[in-house]
Amino acid sequence: MSHTILASSRIAVLGYGSQGRAHALNLRDSGLDVVVGLRKDGPSWHKAKAEGFRVAEPGEAVKTADLVAVLTPDMVQPALYTEAIAPNIKPGAALLFAHGFNIHFKQITPRQDIDVILVAPKGPGALVRSEYERGRGVPDIWAVYQDVSGQAEEKAIAYADGIGGTRAMLIKTDFKEETETDLFGEQAVLCGGASSLVQAGFETLVEAGYQPEIAYYEVFHELKLIVDLFYEGGVEKMLKYVSETAQYGDYVSGPRVIDAGVKERMQAVLKDIQDGTFAQNWIAEYRAGLPNYRRYKQADLDHPLEQVGRKLRARMTWLHPEPAPATGATDQEPAVA
Ligand code: NAD
Ligand code: MG
Repeated sequence: MSHTILASSRIAVLGYGSQGRAHALNLRDSGLDVVVGLRKDGPSWHKAKAEGFRVAEPGEAVKTADLVAVLTPDMVQPALYTEAIAPNIKPGAALLFAHGFNIHFKQITPRQDIDVILVAPKGPGALVRSEYERGRGVPDIWAVYQDVSGQAEEKAIAYADGIGGTRAMLIKTDFKEETETDLFGEQAVLCGGASSLVQAGFETLVEAGYQPEIAYYEVFHELKLIVDLFYEGGVEKMLKYVSETAQYGDYVSGPRVIDAGVKERMQAVLKDIQDGTFAQNWIAEYRAGLPNYRRYKQADLDHPLEQVGRKLRARMTWLHPEPAPATGATDQEPAVA
């Protein structure tokens, strides 16, 4: 076992959502001492208790811990740090994040007498848990921001081991690289890029007079088949499984749609991330009560793509197999964050 440095440590996991629940369960099953820190009677309090954890208010959980994993939503972390962590964390203890946003963009200035590290699984919490249960793991990226104990690196690797990451692969990074690339990926390609690409394709077909049901299947539904091929075997596998006609169309039309102008605009998005413009705007939006965020979200939900999609998905029996047993353990979570 390589998690010896944490063997006699107590780990406080703050938050019991997608990542928090998976980390807490895996660490416990790795033989480590875990306490879950949550707001009393908040949404996760009873769930963590029911799953056998010692649960305490965040400040109480932090007091006794040698490592504090901050697994609450990113936007609540600065207040959580000020109110519960900074007054209570032991000198020499480690503060661990799964995303570098608040440290990198200086929303949290950590005390000088603690280690600050990052361990971020490259997968959603449900997969971090299910792979662990199968004796495997999800790769982790890890980093050290501040090392006062001289053991920060060892602690990060031991934590990654405890959640199953070393069974797969560890990649060393730093807070800047993790934060900037994570934001860029979700904005330019994954959440933002992919949904905008699909909406534009759908609108193009519908405005040209084609049926929305047909357009939905052609530009949205079938995207999963293509992404699964990417995921399993790269672009090479996709090319192997599609027709020669589809390949030729890919070669001549793909670059007409995603041209050099797209890359220039991606570089502009990246620059806004790097110089802090995005973070500043997002923090201001959050503090203002999310007025634009709600408006953008509603527009996505009202898009004709969604209206026809709801109707079609209701008829896809394979999406609704059996009524799920009431285990209370179903994770509603984004696939990418
Ligand atoms: P989540 O929204 O699924 O869960 C958040 C948890 O924090 C919930 O249990 C909630 O009850 C609790 N919580 C909320 N406010 C709190 C407060 N003030 N005090 C104590 N607990 C509070 O969050 P998540 O998606 O697991 O994200 C946690 C961290 O992991 C974030 O830093 C995120 O960027 C990072 N991350 C997430 C993923 C992912 O796949 N979801 C992947 C890698 C990294
Ligand atoms: Mg992300």
